[in-house]
Amino acid sequence: MAGMTMKGAEVIAAMKEKMFRDVTELKSQGIEPVMHIIRVGARPDDLAYERGARKRMESVGIRLDVTELPEDISQQDFVTAFRRINDDPDVHGIMLFRPLPPALDEEEIAGMINPVKDVDCMSPVNIARVFSGDSGGHAPCTAEAVMEMLDFYGIELSGKRVTVVGRSMVVGKPLAMMLLKKNATVTMCHTRTKDLPGACRQAEVIAAAAGRAGMITADMVSEGAVVADVGINVNEEGKLCGDVDFPGVSEKAAAISPVPGGVGGVTTSVLAAHVVRAAQILAKQDAAAQ
Ligand code: NAP
Repeated sequence: MAGMTMKGAEVIAAMKEKMFRDVTELKSQGIEPVMHIIRVGARPDDLAYERGARKRMESVGIRLDVTELPEDISQQDFVTAFRRINDDPDVHGIMLFRPLPPALDEEEIAGMINPVKDVDCMSPVNIARVFSGDSGGHAPCTAEAVMEMLDFYGIELSGKRVTVVGRSMVVGKPLAMMLLKKNATVTMCHTRTKDLPGACRQAEVIAAAAGRAGMITADMVSEGAVVADVGINVNEEGKLCGDVDFPGVSEKAAAISPVPGGVGGVTTSVLAAHVVRAAQILAKQDAAAQ
């Protein structure tokens, strides 16, 4: 029998309701939450992401501003432009589209961004917080989106065997740390893992974040496991798909997230939630300074 489908839209709706209340409260204090995207050039993927982010932000009352910089900007001019936005008291969240052109140094920016405004987790301060189990910063949005989804559907993690496939700094590693904080017993897999099917079969929860279309097949999944699919791939037929072979795995899984319609869209809601939280923290800091 097919398992429950964990739908991104349901998670997004619940998050939206809470955010709308929080934004209304901020606005009653005269604060309009503002997210600022900094884009060097105009890559089609970045523009598509920006459109999605704008829709999601504006639906809860967050304003989205964008600064587009020329691709041939010097590091000095880039830093000056970044500093102006970073220091602007009316900006609460900043996201810098990456990768940057090769002539620009991302690390200098990561080191100077105000960690409160760093809603996309590029600052070493926020990264260190995730790895030390401190939930006071902003975690990488996709990793947090998986946690939001598991939480929304009431998936208990304490003491559970969880296998994470993928160890990137944006998804796999921070996700493993967040699962560990929830007291899961985490196994991390990557391209050198000797027995990936075995590591998946022993798991009660699988998070697939490898970027390989349909690589998690039904024979790799135990009956009754929960499967969160983070992958966004294009298959041989040119269709968007995840890392999990949905038709086969959904027959065995107790719960599974689809692609599209799963974790992907929740990521933008997490980004919006970070902006709201940043605005709340900055408002408290302002009040304390007065
Ligand atoms: P990445 O940087 O390419 O990392 C992929 C990870 O998966 C690496 O750690 C790699 O291992 C591992 N891996 C690749 N093939 C494998 C295999 N056959 N067996 C075991 N492990 C394997 O990718 P990423 O940025 O983390 O993204 C992962 C997926 O999530 C992609 O499909 C991406 O599009 C998607 N994604 C979605 C969102 C969203 O939902 N909004 C956001 C970000 C990413 P090694 O370390 O050994 O190379």
